[in-house]
Amino acid sequence: MATHKVLIVGGGFGGVKAALELSKHDDFSITFLSNNLDFSYYPTFYHTATGGMREQSYIPIKQLLAEQIAAKKVRFVLGTAKKLDRAAKTLHASDSRKYKYDTLIMGLGNVTNYFGIKGLAEYSYSIKSKDEIVRFKRHLHDQLLDDRKPELNYVIVGGGPTGIELAGALPEYIRTIRKNHNLRRRKLHIDLVETSPHLLPRCSKATSRAVERRLRQLGVRLYLKSAVQGQDANGLIINGKPIQSHTVVWTAGVSNNPFFKDNGFTLDPRGKVVVDEHLRAEPHIYVLGDNASTQYSGMAQTALLNGELVATNLMREHEGKPLKADKPKLPVTVIPVGANWAAVEWGKVHFAGKSGWALRSAADWIGYLDITSLIPATEQWFTEFGRYEECPTCSVALMPKPAYQT
Ligand SMILES: Cc1cc2nc3c(=O)[nH]c(=O)nc-3n(C[C@H](O)[C@H](O)[C@H](O)COP(=O)(O)OP(=O)(O)OC[C@H]3O[C@@H](n4cnc5c(N)ncnc54)[C@H](O)[C@@H]3O)c2cc1C
Repeated sequence: MATHKVLIVGGGFGGVKAALELSKHDDFSITFLSNNLDFSYYPTFYHTATGGMREQSYIPIKQLLAEQIAAKKVRFVLGTAKKLDRAAKTLHASDSRKYKYDTLIMGLGNVTNYFGIKGLAEYSYSIKSKDEIVRFKRHLHDQLLDDRKPELNYVIVGGGPTGIELAGALPEYIRTIRKNHNLRRRKLHIDLVETSPHLLPRCSKATSRAVERRLRQLGVRLYLKSAVQGQDANGLIINGKPIQSHTVVWTAGVSNNPFFKDNGFTLDPRGKVVVDEHLRAEPHIYVLGDNASTQYSGMAQTALLNGELVATNLMREHEGKPLKADKPKLPVTVIPVGANWAAVEWGKVHFAGKSGWALRSAADWIGYLDITSLIPATEQWFTEFGRYEECPTCSVALMPKPAYQT
């Protein structure tokens, strides 16, 4: 009978991967706690926010872990981690529930950070969760259908991958909504605001320039070296000047989940948890993915590798074998910008265009394969090619659903 109690907290890339790997071993009793019933496949969020299917971005955790739950290897619990009692090796969760552990694995992901800029939390939109995407799409429709003052200025703040992907997809999506509703053509503006002198400040100059060119071709106006200073109901203040907009999307800031600060973990200057080479923050506590202070933290591929490493090391520890060290691997960056175009950075190889788009599509299939088996991963991947709208007019205008979904 399994005697070693493992508590995995957080149903994201790191947590799910750790559960899948660890459950291959019979000696662990695994409890999986997450505050969301769904696993979020973030790379396709921009697409779901601009008319893509919801299924490509959200997968029920109970579906991903169905086999493990049925075999009683994993117990899934919906709840929010609140407080850690290290001495009693107990995690306190929402609704006063307590979970005892021998080993705790935490992968809680990031939270949005507005850096204290006035008005952003109140007035801006975001695409970082299912609810925020629904709110954003509803707003786009409502604004475009408002005869008296339809929105003409859209502002996306943040020149990282999420802001760029959204800015690239938005012109076509707005055109589609207008066409579906037979709305009069009017000149509209999509602005992308970034504080650095170039988009994608962490990528090569060649990639930044290629992406900037592509966005300009799609009609997106770039405001570089531009800092947002505040927002109210009618617009933003950028570099001291007002810009009118009722649709501002904030993609420019995240910070570590507050759980770690609230519970006295040792943090690096970026607020991420300091871990050793085995991703251990403290005895019996491992921290993964976006939460851990590792070289390539902040990418799904890193979180997956972290989940795998921690599971491997728990098994090795159990078998009395030496532990493996984390070997950070530079993730492949693929950024889609509008239809059939993506910029790629794969080690020293950089390119952009249709081949990048094909690679991105293949990378998503591999991404789904990382968390599920061949047939469900392929079905999941097919959902990237479908469209979904809640608006009745737009739903009618969509192409018929592909056969596999009917
Ligand atoms: C819009 C967007 C697009 C992205 N695109 C890419 C991309 O193209 N390629 C790439 O490599 N990376 C991308 N990323 C980054 C990538 O998604 C993250 O690095 C990855 O999700 C990190 O995995 P994780 O397991 O650390 O956390 P997450 O995947 O964020 O999972 C955290 C989980 O913890 C749960 N949780 C949070 N707090 C609690 C709590 N207190 N108690 C219980 N559960 C809790 C959450 O609900 C969630 O299920 C993107 C991120 C975003 C936001």
